Amino acid sequence: MRICRVRAGDEITYAAIDALSDDLGITDETLVAFIDGHPFGDWSPQGSVARARDVELLAPVIPSKIVGIGRNYRDHASEMGGEVPAEPLMFLKPSTSVIGPGDAIRIPWQSEKAEHEAELAIVIGRVCRDVPRERAAEVIFGFTCGNDVSARDLQRADGQWARAKGFDTFCPLGPWIDTEFDWTDAAISCTVNGEIRQSANTGDVVFGVPDLIAAVTSVMTLLPGDVILTGTPSGVGPIVEGDTVAVTIQSLGTLTNTVVDRG
Ligand code: MG
Repeated sequence: MRICRVRAGDEITYAAIDALSDDLGITDETLVAFIDGHPFGDWSPQGSVARARDVELLAPVIPSKIVGIGRNYRDHASEMGGEVPAEPLMFLKPSTSVIGPGDAIRIPWQSEKAEHEAELAIVIGRVCRDVPRERAAEVIFGFTCGNDVSARDLQRADGQWARAKGFDTFCPLGPWIDTEFDWTDAAISCTVNGEIRQSANTGDVVFGVPDLIAAVTSVMTLLPGDVILTGTPSGVGPIVEGDTVAVTIQSLGTLTNTVVDRG
């Protein structure tokens, strides 16, 4: 099932989305079926539907926190001039960095080099702590596409990543949550203005999804809606005002955002 969060008129609500095209795009026939309740808890179909083109897709979740994972693809660790870490390398992005599909990434005046990072995002479905890797599937609500936008110059200059990864709009998520996605073998790519920049497979990671959930929850409690960004493959590069950046994950969907100067 694919769950989206939408604005329909004055109301923000969750809905199931279906009838996508073969490449998971929205067509005139695509419908959203509104739900009562919350997808992380009890919910039921409301019975009313709308054309997907008549509603605005929002970020599918507002996490209390986003846990990023650094250097989790071997070729990206190499391009950054580093080794693959012995344990998952964690950092935090603030909830206020989240934007939805179609929203603008705003490049701050402090940075001369903001870069895209296409990533698979895990959406947590329940309160959890100290989850053994064998039970990781029990705490996953689903998966969505993410872009761990990073001010690379500030990341290198600061020595830690709070500023470089934490600007408003630096965490596009969407377009929906797929509750049945298989992370072990899916193509992941990033294009900028239609040109391929990153191309890999989500199964190429050093630490897989169960390992990441076990590692993160051994440190901090995760809440429903929290997001783990699973790391980016090689090919990261700059984005500038006027660009359109798209993260596509096979059988999951495409997350597209524009880029503007924040001024
Ligand atoms: Mg990243």
